[in-house]
Amino acid sequence: MTFARLGLLDILTTTAHELGYSQPTPIQQQAIPAVLAGRDLLAAAQTGTGKTAAFALPLLHTLSTEGARVSANHVRSLILVPTRELADQLLTSLQRYAQGLPLRIHAAYGGVSINPQMMKLRKGLDILIATPGRLLDLYQQNAVRFDQLQLLVLDEADRMLDLGFAQELQAVLGALPKQRQTLLFSATFSDAIRQLASTRLHNPISIDVSPRNSTARNVKQWLIPVDKKRKPELLLTLLEQRGNKPLLVFGRTRKGVQQLEQQLIAAGLRADSIHGDKPQPSRLRALARFKSGEVRILVATDVAARGLDIPDLPLVINLDLPNVAEDYIHRIGRTGRAGNQGEAISLVSADEVEYLAAIERLIKQTLPREEEPGFSPEHRVPTTQAGQPQKKPKKPKKPKDKTSVGKGKIHLGELFEAPPKPARAIRGKPLFKK
Ligand code: AMP
Repeated sequence: MTFARLGLLDILTTTAHELGYSQPTPIQQQAIPAVLAGRDLLAAAQTGTGKTAAFALPLLHTLSTEGARVSANHVRSLILVPTRELADQLLTSLQRYAQGLPLRIHAAYGGVSINPQMMKLRKGLDILIATPGRLLDLYQQNAVRFDQLQLLVLDEADRMLDLGFAQELQAVLGALPKQRQTLLFSATFSDAIRQLASTRLHNPISIDVSPRNSTARNVKQWLIPVDKKRKPELLLTLLEQRGNKPLLVFGRTRKGVQQLEQQLIAAGLRADSIHGDKPQPSRLRALARFKSGEVRILVATDVAARGLDIPDLPLVINLDLPNVAEDYIHRIGRTGRAGNQGEAISLVSADEVEYLAAIERLIKQTLPREEEPGFSPEHRVPTTQAGQPQKKPKKPKKPKDKTSVGKGKIHLGELFEAPPKPARAIRGKPLFKK
């Protein structure tokens, strides 16, 4: 299968080749013809599968070949996303895919001034990428109208619901014209997502390219048991062994991430961090510094776990395990992308055994353990066995330290304490046509 056979405009096929895409990925092979045929789409796909181009290329084709010129304050297509990071990343990708096409594209999200976004909307936009909250603000201020809307993309729809955007999402959907094409992408499928799909999609084509709740196959995953207080020291040892490779480290709390960043810098390493307490411009700066190689280590909370596009990241380390098992899949999905090999190491202390058991149940495998010489834990991490009868996990304790929770801000750890239950909800009931 080649891009040329998918029916896209020549300019888009050429761009794909120039970007080094020799052939479409499985989701692109299935989604592109379906979107070009005007069908709604319900797609199970994670970041790393090429899903952005799967909707962006046919979207750009459709906007270039159909529909009237966009009027002031109108948008012809809307891509709804859960986070600012994803909005920015999609903007970059879309601009890349749209080279040479006279289309106006912009991203709008909260945490930054609304005025430049209103200015951009004045002339109308062919593509608006937005987070639901800011989009509603813009709509309520009459800065955006939807009468010309042809196409809606819901990207990472599961994450949008996890982050508590259900109401905003319904409000936005209620304001859109019923006559439109809708593409819904989600890594996991909860009852809420299925409900959303059944009410908002019209006879969709279902695509499932990623085995749900499984981790990327070309990622070597294992864990090192270690006492909690020795984790930073162990991390430094691992870094010494592994040389100068770029590295993404995940921590559970903002405070933990900040402390580790300081420890790494104090050890003479080039590190930056990305977490919810940082204002948006510094988060973007940290990401840009990491992508450009200016800093070698990026320490992040789960806010950065999804939608971060770093093509050949060889290594992810979990300084702590996430308290929502699905976040483990998203964290380690940052490596081993686009066919590359990756490695994901988790540093696990005895108090995290419940999180570990939940992760292993979800991914249906027991993570191999390898002790690091000199770091044998005093507090043994109890053995776990994936697939054993499921003991009800204790409710994860909230982080003791509350000082990092900014006043009036939402603490992601708290949001994550009520995870969706996709695995159980869909077991035995195939959601997708083969
Ligand atoms: P995504 O899942 O959209 O975040 O894409 C993951 C990565 O795969 C990005 O770095 C894309 O540039 C890359 N990519 C997307 N489509 C292809 C393709 N057909 N061939 C090679 N790489 C691709």
